[in-house]
Amino acid sequence: HWQILIALGLAVLLGVIFRNFSIAYGGESSFTEFASKTIATSTFIGDMFMSALKMIIVPLIVSSIIAGIGALGGVKGFGRMGLKTVGFYTLTSLAAILVGLSVVNLFEPGLVNGQPNEEIRAAFDRSVDEASEKDLAKVEAANEKQATDYLDFFKKLFPPNIISAASDNGQMLGLIVFSILFGVAMTRLPTKEMTTLQGTVQGINDVMILITRWIMMLAPVGVFALMFPVVYKSGWQIFIEMGSYFGTVLTALAVHMFITLPLILKFVGGLNPLSHFKAMQTALLTAFSTASSSATLPVTMRCVQENAGVSKRTSSFTLPLGATVNMDGTALYECVAVIFVAQVMGVDMSFGQQFVVVAAALLTSIGVAGVPSASLVAILLILKNSNIDGAETAVVALLSVDRLLDMSRTAVNVFGDSCAAVVVGASEGEKVLQGDLHHFEEDIEE
Ligand code: ASP
Repeated sequence: HWQILIALGLAVLLGVIFRNFSIAYGGESSFTEFASKTIATSTFIGDMFMSALKMIIVPLIVSSIIAGIGALGGVKGFGRMGLKTVGFYTLTSLAAILVGLSVVNLFEPGLVNGQPNEEIRAAFDRSVDEASEKDLAKVEAANEKQATDYLDFFKKLFPPNIISAASDNGQMLGLIVFSILFGVAMTRLPTKEMTTLQGTVQGINDVMILITRWIMMLAPVGVFALMFPVVYKSGWQIFIEMGSYFGTVLTALAVHMFITLPLILKFVGGLNPLSHFKAMQTALLTAFSTASSSATLPVTMRCVQENAGVSKRTSSFTLPLGATVNMDGTALYECVAVIFVAQVMGVDMSFGQQFVVVAAALLTSIGVAGVPSASLVAILLILKNSNIDGAETAVVALLSVDRLLDMSRTAVNVFGDSCAAVVVGASEGEKVLQGDLHHFEEDIEE
């Protein structure tokens, strides 16, 4: 994690230097040309790193769930664990939303002296003029979605085609259900067949873990390559104009990550929050750099299993499910974003309307995929359902400044999932967070 942190720092430094030189030399200069070539190369390498992580998700999830069930000879106790996990996910998401709701009502980032902030309103309009084709197309596609599309999520429990379920970016629910069924059926086979199959699946799982380790050796390069273009492309102007909004979102995320969840770890799980932060360092940094909880999943699994000491059985159930359905940071962000836009647009939301936003944020965060900027679709949907004018304009504006907030909320999403894994693990009598916490990094060094 130190190497990753240094890579992050270097990317920020070089990004700022390159940006300032480009501005100083002007648009047509040979430096700007050099800078844009460097950025293109960097983006290319960053994409490759992301793809390498995504590459192992499907075989990793499938093999770890099946091997986890196989090792225990069945799903005894799975119902209990399932209930605990779902209960934990629902309560922590709700807590996150309530934190967001309180902070946004307290800070009122969209108002000045109780009136809608005209400057931000103007910035919204400007960002539509300046938006990239890609962002506009994204919002347009999101606009086509209907409220009922979110129910489709439940249909995904039983995918008609397992291969296409596996290729549905970030939606792993069907795959999880299929793997559980496969694992249970496997334990019902005659002993000889079962042992052979179990050995094979376990072997595949071990191979995936080894490949994750290799990919993570490249993490400092990957993280640098992902961050450098982000810093180069973001000017300070927008941070100044939207400063109150950034401050609100980041404060609320910090409260959830550094106060609410640690309190839950301590008092519900009886665990030491600091040890858990330490165990999860690499996963949190990967989540922050990639802005994708799905792509981070292999790293989250390794940290939770090897650093925190949660069993395969518990982690291979809680984490893939969490990466799909549990997004504390996203739920919190959706709530803050919708109420902020309402403030800017001069819509006074009653208590009842805010309650609807809370419920919608909770439900839609389940359906949001673990990929960059995925929650903007949900925000557009909630804004439209709340009859707020200019919803599309606002979402284009939010999308254009999304990266830093996306990175931050993704880290919170991943941290939330990992908290469930350790709390559920501890409640199942596992020796969680007790021991040497640096296996994962040591393995990589070896
Ligand atoms: N990027 C987030 C994640 O992968 C989802 C989102 O809120 O856009 O967890």
